[in-house]
Amino acid sequence: MKALYADVILPLAFGSGLSYSVPESLAENIRPGCRVRVPLGKQKMYTGIVARLFDVPPTDINLKEIAGLIDDAPVVNAVQLEFWQWLFSYYLCTPGEVMKAALPAGLKGPRVAKAKTKSFLCLQPSLRDNPPAIEQTLTALARAKKQQEALRVFLRLAQTSEHGPGLFREQLIEAGQQAAIIKALIQKNILEVHEIEVLPDRVPAEALRAAKQLSREQQKAMETIRQGWESGTNVCLLHGVTSSGKTEIYIHLILDYLAQGKQVLYLLPEIALTTQLTARLTEVFGNRLGIYHSACSDSERTHLWNKQLGDDPFDIILGVRSSVFLPFKNLGLVVVDEEHENSYKQQDPAPRYHARNAAIVLASLHGAKTVLGTATPSIESYYNCRTGKYKLVELSGRYLDWQLPEVMAVNTAELKRKKRMKSLLSPPLIAKMQETLEAGQQIMLFRNRRAYALMLECAACGWVPRCKRCDVSLAIHKQGSVLRCHYCGRKYNRPQICPSCGGSDFELRGYGTEKVEEEVRRLFPAIRIARMDSDTMRNRAAYEKTIADFEQHKIDVLIGTQMLTKGLDFDRLQLVGILNADSMLNYPDFRAHEHAFQLMTQVSGRAGRKSGRGSVIIQTSDPQHPVIQHVLNNDYRAFFQKECEERSKYAYPPFSRLIEVIFRHKDESLLEQASVFFASLLPRDMESSVFGPMPALVARVKGLYLQKIILKIGPDISLKAAKDYLCRARDRFIKDKVYRQVQIYFDVDPV
Ligand code: ADP
Ligand code: ZN
Ligand code: ZN
Repeated sequence: MKALYADVILPLAFGSGLSYSVPESLAENIRPGCRVRVPLGKQKMYTGIVARLFDVPPTDINLKEIAGLIDDAPVVNAVQLEFWQWLFSYYLCTPGEVMKAALPAGLKGPRVAKAKTKSFLCLQPSLRDNPPAIEQTLTALARAKKQQEALRVFLRLAQTSEHGPGLFREQLIEAGQQAAIIKALIQKNILEVHEIEVLPDRVPAEALRAAKQLSREQQKAMETIRQGWESGTNVCLLHGVTSSGKTEIYIHLILDYLAQGKQVLYLLPEIALTTQLTARLTEVFGNRLGIYHSACSDSERTHLWNKQLGDDPFDIILGVRSSVFLPFKNLGLVVVDEEHENSYKQQDPAPRYHARNAAIVLASLHGAKTVLGTATPSIESYYNCRTGKYKLVELSGRYLDWQLPEVMAVNTAELKRKKRMKSLLSPPLIAKMQETLEAGQQIMLFRNRRAYALMLECAACGWVPRCKRCDVSLAIHKQGSVLRCHYCGRKYNRPQICPSCGGSDFELRGYGTEKVEEEVRRLFPAIRIARMDSDTMRNRAAYEKTIADFEQHKIDVLIGTQMLTKGLDFDRLQLVGILNADSMLNYPDFRAHEHAFQLMTQVSGRAGRKSGRGSVIIQTSDPQHPVIQHVLNNDYRAFFQKECEERSKYAYPPFSRLIEVIFRHKDESLLEQASVFFASLLPRDMESSVFGPMPALVARVKGLYLQKIILKIGPDISLKAAKDYLCRARDRFIKDKVYRQVQIYFDVDPV
């Protein structure tokens, strides 16, 4: 028998995978994708994944032996290994970093996880959607009062259940019904019970609803998507205003692929993965849908992974960014909803991947199709449609011709001049709020910054308290009593005396959501107000509770940051106020206008979905600003045109590709020298593409200084060549005795 060798990926941030020899005893069972135990260094043992097996002896003949084989079948399939390969070469990180991000920690332990089940109750079939029969049943229970009551409670809860027309037994018990009474209803064949796996929430096939019939325009859009795919354009961009029915189209496309026996991946940004959408999809797909969000525990994640590897995987995975790492056997379709969302990009740690782009690659490895959907396409994706790389499909109207809201701008500069801005809220906004509240309708106020005030300033000398560890001023919370760094989270006491001039008179500058809340309470003392930002929404449960309260009209005014903008649908939301649009427009980043347009359009789209025409008021000191005008006219194309003119002038994406090289160290001057040294390692002919080194926008975070070099790679240089240069420079850099202490990493396509 020939000797056998294996490349093994280890969960490390250095090196590109190591080779080992395979002992004869393991040779028969070992496969790529299996986990193995391997020695490293003098005495460490690691669990790694076999990436490749080969029989040509490698040059290093002193290879160590694999110590043990953990799996008798691969836990990572062949397409996944290929996908990992793409990730680490594209995003310039190590295979180990990809492995660490991809594998649930639980896969380090024993492989089999047992499924838990829960009892799910629904009406027996002849009673379903049959009010007379239900009425009869209730009457028949007249002598069994407790059972009658339990059935009523069941019917009431089931109406608003997020699990389709049924609910879990434990929900009924939580609502005060006794187990014995519920059992009686089951024995009388009024309710039926299904034992289902709890991860994730699932309904049995019996409780499913049919997909809604598409409108003519939706039907046409769907056909155009299919034609695009058939003619060989594998990615379609579905550009449709909010409430045009994009989700309904996805549902129909998914049904298509399921019918062909294929799997589907439905990606969403974390915060958009609310019960609203989950419920909508669960109603149609029930048991076939697996849900994956970042609050899933590691054991849930491991369970899901194993299920997907097994014989009975979910057909659809609805999940956040990292669900691109799950195993798929037979992927046919990828849906990327809200494709413009920046939270699809992982910032830290490596791999710093963009889940939309990674998902498109994953789809192509599977020979699958992709649909990207949004009301506000990213400039990159729309540009890809212009060049013919993607197919553009448009849905211009809302479903059933519900009207888009009326959007108007209020000039705060002028109102200030006339001394009419007596509050953060302009008189026209206050008047409209009054009117909306009187009509019993709801309001959202959007302010893109949290905190009470943005900074504190000495009235005499202008001194501003700053974080000791980060290069930023401190934000003011809790009505001015607490100062906090938004970069490292550290809290500080409010200074009584200015350390610079000894003065004791301080002023607050700027305002955030907390101040808006205070202001609304002052102006409208009798109404119900809630605030939604990362200070008040510490976890998913808090977030979902606020959404549910707003849905059920237990809240009149909801104030918040961009958390408000995400795919939510509220029947009685009539008015949206956007405060201080200027701060979004003036942010120092070439994408600022794109984000401002997206945020304003998305948050506007929440208004007036079903109950009459909604209104949006944008407070700005510059109503003539082109971006404000494009939002007012709901004119994406004009916005795109203007934005492309600007970007092509300065060769920003999509007219170039960016790679950032980031350096981190606590010693500022060493850091500067190191980054200059790195720049000197890049070849001369790249000079015109290299910008920096320069300090990062926030030049110090948590005690570490940050420098960066930006590479702008235009059409004249190959991306591959540029990456090779960067990697070679890095290899050289980390060999330097002094500079190697400086942390260095690459961010490819930063957002
Ligand atoms: P989008 O995803 O584009 O924001 P949705 O799919 O959420 O739009 O549609 C908005 C609302 O209109 C939802 O409540 C949805 O159920 C309803 N709707 C859209 N299309 C249809 C349809 N063809 N039949 C019935 N209801 C529809
Ligand atoms: Zn001072
Ligand atoms: Zn800090």
